[in-house]
Amino acid sequence: MGRPAEGYWRFVSVPVVIVLLIMGFSYHTLVVLVIHPWLNVNTTTGFANVALLTILCTMALHSYALAVVRDPGYIPSSYLPDLEEEVAVHEVKRKVFLGGNRYCQKCEQYKPPRAHHCRVCKRCVLRMDHHCMWVNNCVGHYNYKAFFLFTVYASGAGLQSMILLGTHFIQTLGDEGPEDMDAKVFSESVTSSAFPRVICAVILVPALIAAAAMMTWHFYLLLHNKTTIEYHEGVRATWLAEDIGQGYRHPYDIGIFINLVAALGPSVSCWLCPSATGHLSPDLQCETFSGDILEME
Ligand SMILES: [Zn+2]
Ligand SMILES: [Zn+2]
Repeated sequence: MGRPAEGYWRFVSVPVVIVLLIMGFSYHTLVVLVIHPWLNVNTTTGFANVALLTILCTMALHSYALAVVRDPGYIPSSYLPDLEEEVAVHEVKRKVFLGGNRYCQKCEQYKPPRAHHCRVCKRCVLRMDHHCMWVNNCVGHYNYKAFFLFTVYASGAGLQSMILLGTHFIQTLGDEGPEDMDAKVFSESVTSSAFPRVICAVILVPALIAAAAMMTWHFYLLLHNKTTIEYHEGVRATWLAEDIGQGYRHPYDIGIFINLVAALGPSVSCWLCPSATGHLSPDLQCETFSGDILEME
């Protein structure tokens, strides 16, 4: 299980560098060019804002690093499905309702329920959600929580940054500076620091929209214990079922709280901790709403 070792460089790509640069540049701009000169970090308000932004950025970076470097869940070449009659029935049900093919022609091996072949990684991935170029990795069984929490913390940090940038901009409009400072000198200092603040806002607006949209989408998927692939399969399965006068229900949706526990862990206090993934054991089984258990590994 795991990709061949090629050094840490295998995790680096242009999009990964862009994400890290955006995070570093935004944090530096907010702390050095907005919060400190405007609110002063020695005041309670200034310190609280720096502390909150630092916590959100640190957790976003931590989640992002895990999403990038963590193995998303490759299938061991030794995997063989249980071909007992009972499981075979479930496999037939899956093929009918989800269009699944449990044998990967490319890897020439069987794949467990919810696993899919990634054309970029050229491997099958457990509970594959999608291949994300922004983490240069597949998002699957073992790094989905980190990926989701990255969208949560990035949205929080982006929202706080935009509120600070906007409020600072409004409050400094028409500000003529301290009485003992020459108006021209003050104007030049404001102009020189305004450029990186404007660049920061231009970068953060689309980044915040993208992060918030991803967070909302994956929160919806979490509530229903679906992957992005299964969502699209479900749309197709619903059409097919309606064609023959039947309904379709996603087989792994077993209740909102249990769905959240399956993805985020049994301890609610650890739901926001990206490294708390002890619940994702390699012998995890997929429980369905009908009470069936499908073996993943
Ligand atoms: Zn495959
Ligand atoms: Zn992939």
